[in-house]
Amino acid sequence: MPLAREVAVEVAKQHGVCIRPVPLKRLDMHTGKWEIVDVPCGATLEATCPPCAKRNRQLRMAQCREGWHLEAEPIITPDEPNEAQRWLIEFRADIQAQRDQADQAGADTTDLDAVITGLDEEINDTGMRGNVLGRAVPKRNRSTRRRQDAPDLPKRRMTGTTLGRTFASSDGKTYRPSLFATLTLPSYGKIRNGVPVDPDTYDYARAARDALHFSKLVDRFVQNLRRVAGYDVQYFAAVEPQKRLAPHLHMAIRGTLPRAEIKQIAAATYHQVWWPPADDVVFDGEHLPVWEDGIGYLDPTTGEVLPTWDQALDQLDTDQAAEPLHVSRFGVQVDVQGVLAGTPDADQCIRYLSKYLTKSISDSLDPDDQAQKDHAARMTEALRFEPCAPTCPNWLRYGVQPKNAKPGMTPGRCRSKAHKPDHLGYAGRRVLVSRKWSNKTLAEHKQDRRTWVLQALGQSDQPPDPHRYVWKPVPAGDANVAPLAVRLLRSVAERQRWRAHMALLQAQADGQDLSAIPDAA
Ligand SMILES: [Zn+2]
Ligand SMILES: [Zn+2]
Repeated sequence: MPLAREVAVEVAKQHGVCIRPVPLKRLDMHTGKWEIVDVPCGATLEATCPPCAKRNRQLRMAQCREGWHLEAEPIITPDEPNEAQRWLIEFRADIQAQRDQADQAGADTTDLDAVITGLDEEINDTGMRGNVLGRAVPKRNRSTRRRQDAPDLPKRRMTGTTLGRTFASSDGKTYRPSLFATLTLPSYGKIRNGVPVDPDTYDYARAARDALHFSKLVDRFVQNLRRVAGYDVQYFAAVEPQKRLAPHLHMAIRGTLPRAEIKQIAAATYHQVWWPPADDVVFDGEHLPVWEDGIGYLDPTTGEVLPTWDQALDQLDTDQAAEPLHVSRFGVQVDVQGVLAGTPDADQCIRYLSKYLTKSISDSLDPDDQAQKDHAARMTEALRFEPCAPTCPNWLRYGVQPKNAKPGMTPGRCRSKAHKPDHLGYAGRRVLVSRKWSNKTLAEHKQDRRTWVLQALGQSDQPPDPHRYVWKPVPAGDANVAPLAVRLLRSVAERQRWRAHMALLQAQADGQDLSAIPDAA
């Protein structure tokens, strides 16, 4: 059986079929029957299998190409939720219920919390806005002092457009220039062949914090960019690891600005992290805070209750001498390239943008390069006790109760992605697409491709009845789920049938004699 499974996986890969399908229960409202269907991993959570990752990469390229040099203002209309969205929301509710149950029973909810975060991202990604459950807790009012100042930059009057300027040449042609920018983080010490020349002086602590807060820095850059540009600048960006293992950003920007201004914006952009101090270790080794039901975490020696997350933030607000935990900025290396719509340059940038999308940070490590492996290990170590979020158990090390503190939290044992060697601090999304880029979600691009093929063959693609199916997750170990090998081969057969069907339609469109095609019957 294991052999059969391996063979099935290989066959599935060759046919571009998902090798980690997610089984789901589906009620067909037309027939009243429940059945178990496989959904490709790439369609639900983050694509984890190579065929899905490859397909998603192609879709991302299509999305990037379509939005970059848009000629007309995108129109945003909220659509009826589709099947996938409905399923996601039901699944989200289900997991939330499981999580609340686990929480009440005092069990560890880390895994379920991670799933919920992933689902929320996924739900937003399918084009639905906002949080499904609404915000449970009102957002803290920040004191004015902790609000970030706008850096000193030129500011144009804001116009509502998302389109860049166009230029007409003397022969009447219209040019749509855009930008391709690459932003990196600062130096943490001299690097040779991707590894620090002197690991002892390389600033791993700073590198770790910069990686953890990189997505916030990118947000600030976009805010500043829009303020300077004076229009609603749209972008498609990819976050990728550099060889030195720091994240950097490639960004396709619709429209154009002087290159010097982009550099000026990057230089002026910063992000302040207003978190409690985390530089002095208060609890370490065996000397760790202890949990007391109904009270929270206490100092094991004095019995004193540790400040809660909110109390620690209040303390920050009132302390006039307080400094932000961290301030991140970009490095001096900023590359800006002008790109014209429809040129080979534009195509090359799009390929470049999506080049690393199927790889994790650790994939770019050379397994035979011991120096690089050591560098990655030191980076992982630097991240081990660094708080990754307000909820991170590492706060206990610095004498603060994490947000939503619960029993069983241990510093150095945070299970968030940010601490893992696969992510090295950056746990955010790899692709960042602004809302009015192509005006389509990845799912809509997927549907486009299908519609395009069918239209090319003279077939209409009726939208499926959105109320036809009701979806439910399948509990792990459900006996009705067939062995993986069987399911994979089933998918391969389906893919082959679809291809044969398309070939048949093609032949019909070409006016061929159908009896010559073996599968025509
Ligand atoms: Zn897959
Ligand atoms: Zn953490």
